[in-house]
Amino acid sequence: MHRRRRTRIIATLGPTSSTFDMIKKLSEAGADMFRLNMSHGQHEDISKLYATVREVEKITGRPIGILADLQGPKLRVGVFKDDHVILKVGQKFILDMDDSPGSEQRVQLPHTEIYQAVTPKTELLLNDGKIRLHIEKVSEKEIVTKVLVGGELSNRKGVNVPSAILPLAALTKKDKKDLNFVLDLGVDWVALSFVQRAQDVQEAKDIIKGRAWIMSKIEKPSAVHSMDEIIAISDAVMVARGDMGVEMPMELVPAIQKKIIRHARRVGIPTVVATQMLESMITEAVPTRAEVSDVANAVFDGTDAIMLSAESAAGAYPEEAVATMNRIAMSVEGEPSYRRLLNKDVASPEATTADAISAAAKQVAKTIEAKAIVTYTGSGSTALRASRERPETPLLVLTPNIETARRLTVVWGLNCVYSKDAINFQDMIDKACNICYKYGYAKINDRIVIMAGMPFGTPGKTNVLRISRVLENQINI
Ligand code: PEP
Repeated sequence: MHRRRRTRIIATLGPTSSTFDMIKKLSEAGADMFRLNMSHGQHEDISKLYATVREVEKITGRPIGILADLQGPKLRVGVFKDDHVILKVGQKFILDMDDSPGSEQRVQLPHTEIYQAVTPKTELLLNDGKIRLHIEKVSEKEIVTKVLVGGELSNRKGVNVPSAILPLAALTKKDKKDLNFVLDLGVDWVALSFVQRAQDVQEAKDIIKGRAWIMSKIEKPSAVHSMDEIIAISDAVMVARGDMGVEMPMELVPAIQKKIIRHARRVGIPTVVATQMLESMITEAVPTRAEVSDVANAVFDGTDAIMLSAESAAGAYPEEAVATMNRIAMSVEGEPSYRRLLNKDVASPEATTADAISAAAKQVAKTIEAKAIVTYTGSGSTALRASRERPETPLLVLTPNIETARRLTVVWGLNCVYSKDAINFQDMIDKACNICYKYGYAKINDRIVIMAGMPFGTPGKTNVLRISRVLENQINI
């Protein structure tokens, strides 16, 4: 029932992955968390996807995380009469405020900030930078351009203006509406797009008030520059390589990815590497060798999770894409060099009891060849510290909070079981042994290492490290 893979997989849901059967298949193939992309789909569709994941969760018997990714102040064109057009090099193309469906000649660009910030001779990048437009004339409600690099442009594709600083709010009106909606639904995580500074995260935090954990997407140059301040205030970060590769020179992205992962690991929050990981699998059943290398390298970098976007949301092979990621991650994790790289990047424990116990648990478990490290956690904070140590021994998390169990599905190596708090010391040992046995981590007479806090049920009180053998009388199957 539990995964042996430590690196987590996030699959974005969409038109090709909206049914119960498909979401179940993706979960079985290896998806640990599902992403709802608030840039696409109506609230009704999002509600249905949310309910379907929770249905699947019931039958898998494993907590499944749900991440709602807010659109953020992303600039997008409107829609086209026939859903897409082909722009040819040299042709004229107009962006305007008219919300009627677009054509080969024009399309809506509903962001007044752009009309004020751009000037003739600057460039607009569309569809992840694939299309380049040279601005010839700007007025209050119209930008006239000449196509420098053409291609297909479809509904609501993104627009980037790398050369201009746009005075955009961190959360748009749509984001605030979406945020209230997804918090009412009960999502576990909210991703913030186009974060520019820590203040943007704080603004969202003030609204969310702990109802979900916050994942900041690093994609703007300003966010890269203030990554440490953003990491310090976020619950997780995403290396959002799609927009990052448009906003900044693409060749900088690999080094930035490594730096974000390193910095977030030092602090002890999870990272997600996202976008174009298995892009060719949108149309092909087999990825390119370069894509396999990219996924493998993200795992070697020590990321907590890897993410699929269009591959699982709109591609022809969603299940195969998840299964491919699963195989790549398993293969890398079996390499001795992976362990060496992970150990090299482990930051020193901080001077807290939870860190001291987590570091000791890793060492003790290795020395006595324990079959599992079991950690009791309420808020999830002790489990995060245990994961930060990246122990070789499997990590099992017991928590009485289903929300915590779901939130931790994105964290390296954590396998969560929803379980009532221990009522006394013996109960703590018995529960841990019983669950290790039941979930196949340990057999009778195997040793396990238990981390817990006394008095029981008090958050942030991890202060006990106990070694125990699994005994016959502890098992109630
Ligand atoms: C990205 O830009 O890499 C990303 C994950 O964001 P989105 O897919 O929402 O554009």
